[in-house]
Amino acid sequence: MQASSVYTGPVFEMASRQFHTVADHLDIPVHERARILMPKRVLAVSCPIHRDDGSVAVYQGYRVQHHLTLGPTKGGTRFAPNVDVGEVAALAIWMSWKCALAGLPYGGAKGGIAVDPRALSKRELEALSRRYMQEMIPFVGPHTDVMAPDMGTNEQVMAWFMDTYSMYQGKTVSEVVTGKPVDTGGTVGRREATGRGVAYLIRRAADTIGLNLDGATAIVQGFGNVGSVATLTLAASGVRVIGVSDHSAAYYDPKGLDVRSLDAHVAKTGALAGYSKEGLFDAAELLVQKCDILVPAAVERVIDEHNAGKIDCRILAEGANGPTTPEADDILRNRPDIFVIPDILCNAGGVIVSYFEWVQGLQQLFWDESEVNDRLNRTLEKSFQEVVRLSKTRGLTHRDAALSIGVERVLSAKRKRGLFP
Ligand code: GLU
Repeated sequence: MQASSVYTGPVFEMASRQFHTVADHLDIPVHERARILMPKRVLAVSCPIHRDDGSVAVYQGYRVQHHLTLGPTKGGTRFAPNVDVGEVAALAIWMSWKCALAGLPYGGAKGGIAVDPRALSKRELEALSRRYMQEMIPFVGPHTDVMAPDMGTNEQVMAWFMDTYSMYQGKTVSEVVTGKPVDTGGTVGRREATGRGVAYLIRRAADTIGLNLDGATAIVQGFGNVGSVATLTLAASGVRVIGVSDHSAAYYDPKGLDVRSLDAHVAKTGALAGYSKEGLFDAAELLVQKCDILVPAAVERVIDEHNAGKIDCRILAEGANGPTTPEADDILRNRPDIFVIPDILCNAGGVIVSYFEWVQGLQQLFWDESEVNDRLNRTLEKSFQEVVRLSKTRGLTHRDAALSIGVERVLSAKRKRGLFP
């Protein structure tokens, strides 16, 4: 397969390498591989906005749609300084395998803007969100490509996206975006869904390996929407959370941290820094401290060939997308002491409840929270069992099993639909 000059960089290479590993397991002929791996299309946009000081700043934005074989594309929009088209493409590819594994009728997509949203005022953030969506109008739609939150975006940004798209259509089109506030057509349970799903799967992994969660210890990297909800849900099940970190600080206390007051501090100040003078710890060292459950819920590529041999946990629950490099996977393959819950399974709760939000919006028939959570748990349970079963029968790692299921479903649909024209 020829290398691409558009999609480059370490994150894209990682998605590509993972794909070829499972394509080898699945015996996918080389001539079919590019058709499954390479993104269908990409839009790159320049988004100018007026800064508060009167100057004009221009930000680069992207949206990658990976494949359209199973329905509209689906995926979040990330606002982060290092966003580039290769990373967005990798994240779109992972969304495809994630949606297929969960049985959702979507292809994968992802978008992003290279910006530090914390460096913008609220007015600037709104201007940038609206300009990005305005540039995306010809490319997205409720039956074409449905956006959602990701790192650096939230319900408010989704409300601005939805409003901007709707203003141009002359009517409210709430289904063009998921992860909206509940009072603008969102669903109950979406904000918490990814973190709740992570906690549900940790419970299932703990059952499988005979670990009692009551009194088990956990370390969580990332205290955003995913990490904080996972932390609080685990703590409510009796787990002792001994370490947490975000971009600003890391805290470690083997006796257990007060996760409610950490959460209250982050809700007030936006970050962990300044929570306390005690318990401050080195963020990289935190990942290799002994614990039962390690949850990387921040950025890509934090578990690599340097620390994979040193992590000291029984369950590795990947709340983030792509936290473990293929080099680290080669080390983890020989560490059967660690039960890995791979990202496309572990963090699928978000897109699963996004799908519920989209379905509810299209039907204008809304469910209560227990229905959302029950359906979420049932969907995750099915995927969990499929991954564990395939891993056993084919002797694959959980990641390779999860990816195999996703890739095989996309491949099968492509083969049945055939090649146009
Ligand atoms: N950004 C989330 C993810 O990576 C959610 C995507 C969605 O809800 O569409 O899975």
